[in-house]
Formats: sequence, structure tokens, C-alpha cells
Amino acid sequence: MRTIAIIGGGFSGLAAALHVSRRANGICRMVLIDDAERVGLGVAYRTTRPEHLLNVRAARMSALHHEPDHFVQWLRARKYPFGGDDFVPRAVFGAYLTELYEELRAAGHVDHVRSRCIALPQRERGRAITLANGEVFVADAAVLALGNGPPTEILVTKNGGPATDGRVVQDPWRGMGRMHISPDARIALIGAGLTAVDMVLTLDAIGHRAPITILSRRGMIACGHGAPGRAAVVPLDPSRVIGLSPRMATRWIRRACQAEVEAGGDWRTVIDSLRPVTQSVWAAWTIAERGVFLCHLRTLWDVHRHRMAPSIAERIGHHLKVGRLRVLRARVHSIELLERGLCVRTTRHDPESCEDSSLSFDLVINCTGPGTNPGRWGDPLINGLLDRAEARVDALGLGLETDQHGRLHGEDHSVSRGLFSLGPLRRPSLWETIAVPEIREQASFLADAILKA
Ligand SMILES: Cc1cc2nc3c(=O)[nH]c(=O)nc-3n(C[C@H](O)[C@H](O)[C@H](O)COP(=O)(O)OP(=O)(O)OC[C@H]3O[C@@H](n4cnc5c(N)ncnc54)[C@H](O)[C@@H]3O)c2cc1C
Repeated sequence: MRTIAIIGGGFSGLAAALHVSRRANGICRMVLIDDAERVGLGVAYRTTRPEHLLNVRAARMSALHHEPDHFVQWLRARKYPFGGDDFVPRAVFGAYLTELYEELRAAGHVDHVRSRCIALPQRERGRAITLANGEVFVADAAVLALGNGPPTEILVTKNGGPATDGRVVQDPWRGMGRMHISPDARIALIGAGLTAVDMVLTLDAIGHRAPITILSRRGMIACGHGAPGRAAVVPLDPSRVIGLSPRMATRWIRRACQAEVEAGGDWRTVIDSLRPVTQSVWAAWTIAERGVFLCHLRTLWDVHRHRMAPSIAERIGHHLKVGRLRVLRARVHSIELLERGLCVRTTRHDPESCEDSSLSFDLVINCTGPGTNPGRWGDPLINGLLDRAEARVDALGLGLETDQHGRLHGEDHSVSRGLFSLGPLRRPSLWETIAVPEIREQASFLADAILKA
């Protein structure tokens, strides 16, 4: 019987296990390695807070590529008051994933080992999966489902030297757990993406009342989803974006959105229609073009593409109107710890000027989002693969280079033996690779590739 090691037990790891088990008919044993207590949740779905909602409608959140209705049917069978158009609490989605994992485990298809994988050297037959708890076992194939890295740390100083302090939360998904936050605390969120939005909702829920400041280089907050099921009014051929430079593509999309709105439609239908071609657009760009996109256009794309539930967008809009929330265009350089309070050093990008300024807060939360460059995560597993030239970080530091089946590329561009990857690590070749609909599709292809290998 073949053994497959799946390293990482977030959604990607579970999706890989589910899809392999459905193809394998008992011909292989899977071992899923993650030091978390529960499998499938990862950073996104282990929240227990009811205000944290999925940012994708339930109808698109099935864990199974060939059963797109699976999650909605599960909700119905468990009598949850949600339908396919709803934005369900992430904790409910977590319960769904836990149940799927328990079914796999009960059927004897997978075991969970609570540890971290620190190395996987090549052996004559497979890879020696080496764990932090001292265990070693040989697997015929290994899947890296390591997810996202921690956010890039913001420089914190005291008396001129580097320092740490609980008043600067460097990773909100790890650091916010048991914090006591005074209702009057002056809080800054660095970054204006969906992590910042989650933090605002949680601060509301725990009784924080003082104004919150978002510091963000572009000052743009994610848009909300529109009404469900709206079809495009103006006929559109999204494949025409393939081959356009990033700036030309942006112009094309802007014009298409304008035409749609002028015809009485919703610009979101244009953005959503691009999903099937996004990977081809990305693949056609040179490294320099991708660099231009990342530097100048990514935020514009992200705020329109990664949208929040309408109820949340309404709440954030209200907060902005009444001054509970303000957004400043500013680049944060460092934070100085003072006896009382924090001094945040920034360059402000106001419409008229660009000037250095210092702002005072009591608490700062780093909401800049995941760090994508695996070479900077300090993970011994990744570092070992890079040192032995078995893996390659792309030129833009977005992840690891892979072929179309998710097999890792070595430093010399050769394809690794029995070493696969899925999820956020595959950004360099796929770009759209972080959300459930894309990950479950990758898991399905990956299962075929592993079982054929
Ligand atoms: C807050 C948040 C909300 C989101 N909401 C949505 C949503 O509503 N809809 C949607 O489609 N997508 C959403 N996403 C996108 C999300 O990234 C994916 O849906 C998915 O959860 C990614 O799962 P993953 O397993 O790849 O990564 P992760 O969830 O990061 O899991 C990776 C796991 O691998 C483990 N690991 C890493 N290295 C090792 C090692 N060496 N040994 C052992 N274990 C290791 C980690 O500890 C972690 O448990 C959200 C993301 C976030 C952060």
C-alpha cells in the first residue's frame, strides 16, 4: 500500500486528502501532519467569532470539486438557517470541514499526526518524512499544503534599538486571542484588506468604542458583494484581456465596468467574468509585467476582486460615515514604544502632499496580510528544500515554482520526484490560488497526478 504524506492541515491539506481518498479506493494510506488540534481549519476557519463571515457565498464553498452543492446540502441537512446565496459564519464552515475530516478518519483513509514536518530528504523509495517530534517515516509522495506565511513584521523600536511589546500585534491571527482591550484605546490597523475588516468587526463585538484608524498606502478598502445572481447586461468576451499588458488590461476592465454600469448593470459581473481567464492573463505576462501589476495595480484589483459580505460592507460604510473608522493614506516605517502610548512614524500620502508625520496610538495591529515569500518564513522544511535546490522561489517572491500538476521545480528547473504542492504556495504559476473554489479544483487534479505517479 502506498503512503502519501500531506504536510499542512488547513483547507488545502484536507482538500487534498478528500480528493485522493475518493480516487484511491483504499490503495493508499494518508498521513496528515499539522500541529493544530483540528484538521481542515487553518488560519481562516478556526475562528469561533460569529461576526467573522465567509467572503464567498455558500453556493461556491463546497470542499468537493465534483460536488459543487455539497456545502449547501450539508447546511440544509444540519438545519442551519442559510441558503446558497448567504455568507455563512466561518465557524460553521469550520464545522463542515471538521465533519468531512472525521468521516475520512473513521473510514481509515487518513491519520493526523500532531507535529510539524522539518525535512523530507529523498530516499531510494520515496521521502523520509522527518517530524519535529522525532518521528521519521517513508512516504511514496508528499504534498506541501503549507498555506500562507506570517505577515511581514513591522519594525518596533525602543531607545533606538529593536524591541517587542504586546501593544504591537504583529500577527493578528495569533496575537489577539486573550488580549484585554480598553473601550477607549486608540487603535491603528496597518493595512486595509479583509484582515483589517475582521479586526474592526471583532473590536465592535468586544465593546471597543473609540475611533479606529486604518493606515494604508493606497487608502482603499475592499468593496462589498452585490445582489446575488445578477447577469451581465452588456455582452463581454473576457478572453480579450489575455495578452494585454497590465495597464492595457486595467483600461479594458475599467471601460467594460463603466459600460456595464451605464447600461444599468453591476460592475461586479465584469470582475467575476474574468475569473476563468485570470490564470491565462497572469501566465501571459512577463516577470516585468507581473512586477508592474504588483507595484501599481494589485490593490485596485484586490479591493474589487476580494469582496466582503454585503452586511459587513454596510457596517464598514456606516463606521466611515460616523467617524468610528477613518482611513489615512500613509506608509508606516516604524513604531516607537513610549512609556505611555506608541509613536507610529509614517509618510502620509495626502492628495496635496507627501510628508513625514508621527501619529500616537495605544495599540497597533498589523493587518498587512500574509507574507508570500516562503524563503523568509524561517521554516526549516522550506529552507532545507531551497538549500538542496529542490525548490525554487520565483523572482517576485510570491511562492514556489511548480508545474501544471503542482510538482515542485528545482533550482535547475527540473521537476521534483514525488513532491507536490497546492494552495497559496502556487501563486507564481497560478496567481488565483488562495480561495476554496480554486484550491478544491487543484486538489482534484493533484489527486490524479499523485495516483498516476
Ligand atoms: C481570515 C481569512 C479568511 C478567509 N476567508 C475565505 C473565504 O471566505 N472563502 C475563501 O474561499 N477563502 C477564504 N480565505 C482564503 C484561505 O486562504 C483559503 O480558503 C484556505 O483556507 C487556505 O488554506 P491552506 O490550507 O492553504 O492554508 P492555511 O489555512 O494557512 O493552513 C496551512 C496549515 O499548514 C500548517 N503548516 C505549515 N507549515 C507546516 C509544516 N512544516 N509542518 C506541518 N504543518 C505545517 C500550518 O500550521 C497551517 O495549519 C480566507 C483566508 C483568511 C486568512
